Amino acid sequence: MLVKQKIYEGKAKIIFTGPQQGTLIQYFKDDATAFNAKKFDVLDGKGEINNLISEFIMNKIKEKGIPTHFLERINSREQLILDCKIIPLEVVIRNIAAGSICSRLGVKSGLKFKEPLIEFYYKNDNLGDPIVNDSHISLLEWSTHTELKQVKVFALEVNNILSRYFLKVGITLIDLKLEFGRVKVDNRLVVADEISPDSCRLCDAISQEKFDKDIFRFDTGDLVSSYRKLAKRLGVIL
Ligand code: UDP
Repeated sequence: MLVKQKIYEGKAKIIFTGPQQGTLIQYFKDDATAFNAKKFDVLDGKGEINNLISEFIMNKIKEKGIPTHFLERINSREQLILDCKIIPLEVVIRNIAAGSICSRLGVKSGLKFKEPLIEFYYKNDNLGDPIVNDSHISLLEWSTHTELKQVKVFALEVNNILSRYFLKVGITLIDLKLEFGRVKVDNRLVVADEISPDSCRLCDAISQEKFDKDIFRFDTGDLVSSYRKLAKRLGVIL
């Protein structure tokens, strides 16, 4: 058993060393940030609900054959995960236009894409996570052509699995952000980080009620109650 040591603190999570070689502990904080951390608050209960939702979603995609870093939920705030080298990209898959694509390209919010649109952002807070393309990614050696091809296959498959699953409970998946890593012991490509309403846009398919971080971004309601409502719809909590 190794002694638990903090190795990294991000905006919404803390990473600690794990109990066995090759594992880490991912701790979900209550901190909420938006607009590259220009907006910040501590929202009681957010960490716990995101831990539960992310566990549920990671297990869902794992069941369908997508490799992930997730091993198990340890307690209300922590997960045991595989130690990975994170690829410095945010992979965004969009089914419907919302957020930055609207302001950047003048696309009308709500436009349904004929097929899912994939974008890559370079994970770098100092640069404000700029959008990048395949050439940047391979020439700056963040990932190889072959690996990026696999990232795209997994990203589209995750979007497909989750879109269908959410629709069964009457929820539309507007867009989502994924991160990928390579497992340190065997270099396997896996979905890493978290998948939660912090990293997806979700709304009721009929009423359009929102269940995601836009509630916090634009102060339109109580974020934690909305996340709980979503968790109930998914059957994650009673
Ligand atoms: N997203 C995220 N982390 C980020 C940026 C975006 O999880 O640092 C998610 C966001 O919640 C949304 C999707 O990625 O589900 C697309 O976000 P967008 O590019 O529209 O950016 P934003 O509106 O957050 O500026």
